[in-house]
This record gives sequence, structure tokens and C-alpha cells, in this order.
Amino acid sequence: MIKNIILDFGHGGIDKNGNYTTAPSKMYTFSNGVVAFEGEINRQIGGLLALYLSTHRLRYNVVLTVNPYDATDISLDKRVEIANSFKKDETILISVHSNASSPSGTGTGFEIYTTTGQTKSDILATEIGNSVKTLYQKLNLKLRFNFTDGDLDQENNFFILRKSACPAVLLECLFFDNWNDYQKLRDPEFQKEMSWYIYKGIMSYLDKYGDV
Ligand SMILES: [Zn+2]
Repeated sequence: MIKNIILDFGHGGIDKNGNYTTAPSKMYTFSNGVVAFEGEINRQIGGLLALYLSTHRLRYNVVLTVNPYDATDISLDKRVEIANSFKKDETILISVHSNASSPSGTGTGFEIYTTTGQTKSDILATEIGNSVKTLYQKLNLKLRFNFTDGDLDQENNFFILRKSACPAVLLECLFFDNWNDYQKLRDPEFQKEMSWYIYKGIMSYLDKYGDV
């Protein structure tokens, strides 16, 4: 039975001195001078997700690898260590990120990742992906699904997915280096909807598979 939901928000934030606590590759300066900070976006969307999970489903132990109101970044090792301190059969992990492309500004849309091969993570990714699909179709945003292996997720052995023992997925909400995507990512209304649909996807997974 699932008891623990680990929420992981990628990278760091802006500290009280105004400094970004993570790698410069995780920010982007647009030609008009506006700067997008991936870690800030991840914390904003993830923080709302944590709020929904905490207020609507009290039976679950919601664990945050980083505090969304604290800019401190922690290592991937530490994030995995937190996830693996819980029993893998009682735990799921959701890592919230935003995307960037090369060259900058050419990517758009939503992706959800699991490790390669078919595991419980694929089922979790499918539930979250199908929920997010409803929102993205309504807003006419792109869904970067890959059905070549029979389900919608993309596969990549990212460290946090590979090293976490429990079912684990990584979301790339939209592209922070794409001006149109960034307008959504920084919009409080979009942030609320995005986190709500992720929440509903997690709940759908737990309702179907959380008790087995
Ligand atoms: Zn990231």
C-alpha cells in the first residue's frame, strides 16, 4: 500500500540576497532582458502540488526533498537518499522540472519521463500524463508523448529515476527558454491548473493501484 508521496522540485531558487543557487544552465535570459529561473518555476508549481496533496489526502505522508519557500539546492544524491529512506513498495516519487532546448527557444510542450523498460513507473506516468493531457488540449499546448514503446512517457535513465527504488517519474512541464511557454509557466493561474492536473493524475494512480 502506498503511504508516502515524495515530491522533488528540480534545482535551487533565489536566495534572500537575490542570488540563484543553481547552475546558470538552469536559467535563461530572453532578448528583452527578462530572466527565467527554472528552479523558481519548479518550486512554484511543486509547492502548489504539495498544498493540494496535503489538504486533500491526509492519509498520505507527503515528503518534500526541498522546501519550496527556501532557495537552497541539494544534490541529486541527497534527493535520492531521502526517497530511499522510505520503503519502496509504500512510496512513489514525482520530480517536477521545466525544460530547455538547444538551440534555446525551439522546444515547446510537456514531457513525462521514466527509466527504460516497463515498471510501475510507467503506469504512474500514464495516469499523470493522461490527466495533464486534458489541460493541455484545453489550452492548445503541445504534448510531447512517445508511444513507440506502447505508452505515452519518454524514457531516460535520469539519475533521480534510476537511483530511486520506488516508482518514480520526472515531469518537464513546459520550456522555460521559450517565451510563449514561459508566459504560461510564470502565470499563477496556469501554475494552479498545472499542479491540479498533476495532483489528479497522482490520485488516479493511487485510487487504482495504491492499495495493492
Ligand atoms: Zn531541471
